[in-house]
Amino acid sequence: MKFSDSSDEAAGYLRQAIPMMVKHNIVPNPLNYALWYSYYSNVFPLLNTVLDKTVERYGTCPPDISETLFFEHINKIDNDSREKLFLFQKDFSHLVDNLSDSMDHNAQQTNGYSQALMENLSELGTHALDDTYTLVLNKLNANASAICTANKEFQGQLSAAQIEINTLKAELENSRKEANTDPLTGLFNRRVFEANYNQFVDDKNNQGNITLIMMDLDKFKAFNDTHGHLVGDQILKYIGQLLKKKCTDPVVPVRLGGEEFALLCPNLNLQQAQIIAESIRVKLATMPYSSKRTGEKIPPITASFGVAQKRANEELSNVMERADQALYAAKDAGRNQVKQATN
Ligand code: GH3
Ligand code: MG
Ligand code: MG
Repeated sequence: MKFSDSSDEAAGYLRQAIPMMVKHNIVPNPLNYALWYSYYSNVFPLLNTVLDKTVERYGTCPPDISETLFFEHINKIDNDSREKLFLFQKDFSHLVDNLSDSMDHNAQQTNGYSQALMENLSELGTHALDDTYTLVLNKLNANASAICTANKEFQGQLSAAQIEINTLKAELENSRKEANTDPLTGLFNRRVFEANYNQFVDDKNNQGNITLIMMDLDKFKAFNDTHGHLVGDQILKYIGQLLKKKCTDPVVPVRLGGEEFALLCPNLNLQQAQIIAESIRVKLATMPYSSKRTGEKIPPITASFGVAQKRANEELSNVMERADQALYAAKDAGRNQVKQATN
């Protein structure tokens, strides 16, 4: 991550960025904050050169140029990774919260200062004063009030930016969920499967005892041909629900694609995983269906399973291959059964 500054450092950059944005009449939206935050943290030297030139030329940074610069320089972080952008937004939103508090504090202080000035002025009013002093004091008072008003306006804009950031965060969270989920069955997809597997294997606290179950529906092509693709989809949905129900923590079911599923079984050995696969097989083979559209009874769907436990230092692709071979053996032996890979 490019922005690895400490909280103090980061708040310092923002404090420098904000007067600059106010001075050049730049709208305080999250994109512009990111731009000017980056400017002061000097993480993208090329961006600084372009920003300097732009401000010199226009006296501000026009919105379309800001947007282009943001996507050219900042949103390119580590291949545009959504995950990292999400973390960035999170850090950033935290900073805006901090800043909002410190602005509040400033505004209160400035208000107090302005009020004290007013009182002093009225006190002075009772004394005979040189006109020049009165003029200077009035100007001071006017300036303090102006700072107060500017602070208040900026706080309002900050709150608006905060709302915008929260919306962005929610959108990012949604797109993260979408990227991890198979829309038909609601199960996690292969991406999550691989990520969970790697996370488990990389965690030094785990003993590395992890088993894979591969599951493939039997003769599903023929099923589609007989009952139609839509009924096939309906069955896949039911299977999604069944797997969610049957797989309790730590087992994670995913749809790998088509009519193929996998169950990741962390901290379970071959025999324990075999029991889980067997119970799903039986449940599936005895589950009666009927078509939502016609009410027609549909014979149960069966599936074949292959189970393999990870060997020491074995890559995921290899464990999957061994589980797949066991699955083919289950198909060859007549389908609707579970086979174990040899370890
Ligand atoms: P086997 O027992 O050997 O696995 O036979 P099979 O027919 O299940 O295997 P095959 O690989 O020949 O066919 C898989 C079928 O799964 C073909 C395809 O139409 C169906 N399928 C894959 N994805 C979907 C889906 O999203 N919806 C529906 N309805 N069918 C799907
Ligand atoms: Mg298949
Ligand atoms: Mg199949």
